[in-house]
Amino acid sequence: MKNQPKWIWHNGQLVQWQDATVHVMAHGLHYGSSVFEGIRSYDTDAGPAIFRLDEHLQRLFDSCKMYRIIVPFSYEQVKQACCDVVSKNALTGAYIRPIVFRDAESLGLCPGDDHPVSCSVMAFEWGPLHGAEVLENGCDVCISSWKRLRSSSNPVLSKAGGHYLTSQLISLEAKNNGYDEGIAVNEAGNLTEGAGANVFVVRKGKLLTPGLGQAILEGITRDTVLRIANKLDLELLETEISRESLYTADEIFMCGTAAEIAPIRSVDRIAIANGKPGPLTRQFQSEYKNCVSGKTDYASEWLTLVNPSLPTPTPSATDELQLQSGEATNA
Ligand code: PMP
Repeated sequence: MKNQPKWIWHNGQLVQWQDATVHVMAHGLHYGSSVFEGIRSYDTDAGPAIFRLDEHLQRLFDSCKMYRIIVPFSYEQVKQACCDVVSKNALTGAYIRPIVFRDAESLGLCPGDDHPVSCSVMAFEWGPLHGAEVLENGCDVCISSWKRLRSSSNPVLSKAGGHYLTSQLISLEAKNNGYDEGIAVNEAGNLTEGAGANVFVVRKGKLLTPGLGQAILEGITRDTVLRIANKLDLELLETEISRESLYTADEIFMCGTAAEIAPIRSVDRIAIANGKPGPLTRQFQSEYKNCVSGKTDYASEWLTLVNPSLPTPTPSATDELQLQSGEATNA
């Protein structure tokens, strides 16, 4: 692996890369019974800080709950592990990956109450998911022939390993057909999300995004974008978005912890507006950057310092507006 980290937190201990191993009989390997998170730390004036760590860990524990997986460590232990893997590997800007999985015991599909569960946390350097060039110029996406999971078959709010088989099919199909990424619609043909990111659309002066009822992952970056949009006084709608309204949108972007804010310049080879990232997308990109690097007042509570003994950063871009809520109106 490129950027291989030396230290990995594995079941309560920091061990070296080669010792962080899993048995071939692990239940999670056979049946997808794992739950994970994707988190990032960024460089701030007070050293590395993890963005919205509490929200990510809450989602990790909630995801486990939905699959009846009991995390064998406390919330505080996993939180400390996230900080430790960044500092022990001397990282600043890092991608942090906690994972909880049913480990090796029996291969019976239905795990017993005593089935062992393991937990690991790794951190390594990883640039934006679709590359820096996409952040600058935008990406070309297609509507996938694979539909997003349905809540009636899987608890889609859970970030479970098995759910990512659909995401893999969406991305693989897109790449094999010459696109950068695929986005999925649901059985009714309405927009849901990308393989690993939520989607926002700017159309006729409004910011639109599918609501949670569309069986999307409740993205933490999505929530950050909603809060920024409130601050910018934009009209927001969590609503159903048809495929054809994407083609005539003014701007579209994907957002996620790994993807950050990635402009979409075409859908199914139809250019979005003039085929260049639009002004609102640019504004979200720059606000997001300020949030993650501790340069806005309102975002300081979202940062967990990896080494809290260092001085606290002073936000340079001050803001009078206190964000109340990221909730948008349901259409
Ligand atoms: N949807 C899916 C399917 C994802 O995998 C991700 C990445 N976690 C997202 C949306 C965005 O979520 P977040 O902003 O919390 O990273």
